[in-house]
Amino acid sequence: MSAGLAERVKALAQEVGFDRAAISDAQPLHEAERRIKASITAGYLDGLHWFTTERAQRATHPTGLMPGARAILVLSASYLARMTPPAPEPGRPRGRIARYAWGADYHDVLRDMARALVERLPAVAGRSVRSRIFVDSSPLAERPVAQRAGLGWFGKNTNILLPGAGSWSFLAAVILDLDLEPDQPLRKTCGACTLCLQACPTQALPAAYVLDGPKCISFLTIELRAAIPRALRPRMGTWVFGCDDCQEVCPVNRKAPTARLAALRPRTVDDAYPELLPLLGLDAEGFRTRYRGTPITRPKLWGFQRNVCVALGNASDPAAVPVLGRVLADNDRHPLVRGHAAWALGRLGGGAARRALTATVSKSLDRTIRAEVTAALAMHQG
Ligand code: SF4
Ligand code: SF4
Repeated sequence: MSAGLAERVKALAQEVGFDRAAISDAQPLHEAERRIKASITAGYLDGLHWFTTERAQRATHPTGLMPGARAILVLSASYLARMTPPAPEPGRPRGRIARYAWGADYHDVLRDMARALVERLPAVAGRSVRSRIFVDSSPLAERPVAQRAGLGWFGKNTNILLPGAGSWSFLAAVILDLDLEPDQPLRKTCGACTLCLQACPTQALPAAYVLDGPKCISFLTIELRAAIPRALRPRMGTWVFGCDDCQEVCPVNRKAPTARLAALRPRTVDDAYPELLPLLGLDAEGFRTRYRGTPITRPKLWGFQRNVCVALGNASDPAAVPVLGRVLADNDRHPLVRGHAAWALGRLGGGAARRALTATVSKSLDRTIRAEVTAALAMHQG
């Protein structure tokens, strides 16, 4: 077990661009497996169809992911950027994008850095090194590994909190066949703080360390491939991709340093606070061009525009009414976008919105759109 080699590997991680590195052994993560399986049983991972009990088992047994695994190098890179929202302007409502998606797709950025690290490992270790890289989308339970390696501690909002840097960091991990001295878990906790639990607008944090995924705005705006439950829409504010509310209130995040990596920073204010009405004018090609290389393509154009409709309903700007009316009437649009446009018209209220809704009633409509129009008209009467 080499402490000197461990330090050299961690130094190499910083040379290739990571902010921090820590080492865990490759033993199974039994407690994490139990917790993930309990979340599945409780329905907290419903909608994430790939998150099965088999996956939970695989994600928590590093030697199954790479036979011969001896250690796991856990890596972090801050994505914190600061961008002041523009002053509100009537007629130009804006939405919000979660900070992690303000810049380039972190999967690509972190994977490139991890590859650069792995290429240089043989020179540091003095032998060939077997490795497997994980950047979020691969099946390794990175947060429990980060906790065991002492990189941070579990916050009550289920994020890993790094001392002095908080939760505004991406994590990556590299399983290695090297014997490296592991780091020790931290003794820190959130103490009596419960700010994140109180701040969550959809009550997706029903208890400390428990995330009710199907209620989380991140899930609703990114992963959900269906209609957003009507009861949750008014609570989503103007988030169109992800949500940062439980991180913004976190006191550990207050003094976090900004990202070193320029690729993770936004280029313009629209990367963080996009004007909403032009987003409904994007076609598939325009969407690809605008968001290529960022995480925002994940929900696809129709999922993103569904979110935009909800944000417009919550933004209370009457300038949205004619645009939403045209979306609702457009037979070429995805039925879920049209349905959520109807909801937004119901939420905005007023004579013009009601006329846009009633104009569609006599037309032949998809069953889901008709149900949304009926519910939206009922909101006008309510
Ligand atoms: Fe709640 Fe938003 Fe945090 Fe999800 S990301 S738990 S919706 S505050
Ligand atoms: Fe922990 Fe408080 Fe931060 Fe929540 S807001 S993660 S309870 S320190």
